[in-house]
Amino acid sequence: MPINLSDNDIHVETKTLVICSRCGATFEVNPPDKSHDLAAWSQEAFEDKVRVEQECTKCKHINVVYWG
Ligand SMILES: [Zn+2]
Repeated sequence: MPINLSDNDIHVETKTLVICSRCGATFEVNPPDKSHDLAAWSQEAFEDKVRVEQECTKCKHINVVYWG
């Protein structure tokens, strides 16, 4: 989904879809803050990262997502 930055240059936090590693369901997660808005499964993906545990909305499996 494209991000529109023209509205007073305010960065709009966008939800990201992640896929549950257990059941394969997709669910939406929110970035933990404005400077970490890209999600990855690998902690090597970013130098500056935030580790967030996201509970699957269907099977309640805890998926660890790294935000950078
Ligand atoms: Zn699940």
